[in-house]
Amino acid sequence: MYNPKSHDADEFICHEEILDTLKYADENKNNINLIDKIIHKAKLGKGLTHREASVLLACDDEEKNNEIFKLAEKIKKDYYGNRIVLFAPLYLSNYCVNGCVYCPYHAKNKHIPRKKLTQEEIKNEVIALQDMGHKRLAIESGEDPVNNPIEYILDSIKTIYGIKHKNGAIRRINVNIAATTVENYKKLHEAGIGTYILFQETYNKESYEKLHPTGPKHNYKYHTEAMDRAMQGGIDDVGLGVLYGLESYRYEFTGLLMHAEHLEAVFGVGPHTISVPRIKKADDIDPQTFDNGIDDDTFAKIVACIRIAVPYTGMIISTRESEECRARMLHLGISQISGGSKTSVGGYFKPMPEKDDSAQFDVSDRRPLDEVLKWLMELGYLPSFCTACYGSGRTGDRFMEICKSQQIHNFCQPNAIMTLKEYLADYASPETRKVGDALILQEIEKIESEEIKNKVKENLEKIEKGERNFKF
Ligand code: SAM
Repeated sequence: MYNPKSHDADEFICHEEILDTLKYADENKNNINLIDKIIHKAKLGKGLTHREASVLLACDDEEKNNEIFKLAEKIKKDYYGNRIVLFAPLYLSNYCVNGCVYCPYHAKNKHIPRKKLTQEEIKNEVIALQDMGHKRLAIESGEDPVNNPIEYILDSIKTIYGIKHKNGAIRRINVNIAATTVENYKKLHEAGIGTYILFQETYNKESYEKLHPTGPKHNYKYHTEAMDRAMQGGIDDVGLGVLYGLESYRYEFTGLLMHAEHLEAVFGVGPHTISVPRIKKADDIDPQTFDNGIDDDTFAKIVACIRIAVPYTGMIISTRESEECRARMLHLGISQISGGSKTSVGGYFKPMPEKDDSAQFDVSDRRPLDEVLKWLMELGYLPSFCTACYGSGRTGDRFMEICKSQQIHNFCQPNAIMTLKEYLADYASPETRKVGDALILQEIEKIESEEIKNKVKENLEKIEKGERNFKF
């Protein structure tokens, strides 16, 4: 029976409720009256239920779809301005005991070179990332209790936070590792992680079990209830996502929103981020063998509908997607992107050939970070390396409170400007610096409070003289 407050995955992600929702959405996909009502509610900026959002996703009326896209753009602007937060993934180990049929790290893949970084190698990777200008990482690892136990992940976090190289510093480490115990989540929390990210892959239990035939990840309930355990362990920023292509996208969309509603109902705070990965070609993996691939138009509709349904949740798009696709999705709701990413273990210090067998998946956007930054700015975005919320304890419900009272701009805009200035001073090419300095002059004027504006100007001068790490 469907119960968003239950801790049982079969109750908060209820198959029958998803099927009923899809039926309701099909019956109403041309019900202009209802669609208008839902759009009207969405305009209040407080989000939608999974049923309402699923009707919008199913809607095939061109005029209404245009309204949906416009509204997504508006919500994105109202809540996030033109800021885009940058991060990079760091692959620690590709040893894995699971059998995920879409992932090249699956245990039966005998021709992929297996590698686990030593702490010394992690240092080299992180210095290479700091030299690009990154301040925020997402660490990634396969699941292997012998090769990658929690102690290894904790040691790696300690190493990463401890590296001070020139003006570089990693100020926020998000963690994307397999579902684990409350005790281990407590340890990750104590180690000072930012967001705990775990993709559900698919919310369809039957498909989930087939797609994960062997290994601990086969256990659907354990995986689906992981965010509850993470929150019980003290982690209040969690990141959701499904891997589009595995199952029907409408099923996944409904399940994803039910998961968000569940977290809100039980813990009083929804997901901090939602990622939108699509399955990609990789060693031993051919995306064509999966029946549910989605085209760019469908992808755009999903991004827009997520943006409308959960306005306070950040949205992440990775370099799995091309420059063209990322440009299209950015204004529909994306607030964070990766840049200059390598998906192989050890790929930053020793760049691998373009066709690298140890990579987790083929990267579509291969541009260096500096190029991505210049491109963002030329498209009218303000790149941000800000990690201040995390450093100032503005996480979980405290972060959501500030978001909901629309005060987040007072922190984010000045912090984005100052972290961009740090980037320009320390890492940018002359062309990027020129574009960035001009942008900063415009962006300062958007700060409403004269007091904050003057403080930012003062800090920008200090950054030019070599001081770092200013934040509001
Ligand atoms: N091993 C961890 C786990 O089990 O959740 C997470 C780390 S894994 C490196 C990160 C994500 O990459 C997975 O959750 C999956 O959604 C995604 N992924 C795996 N194979 C992929 C592929 N062929 N194309 C695109 N994304 C893929």
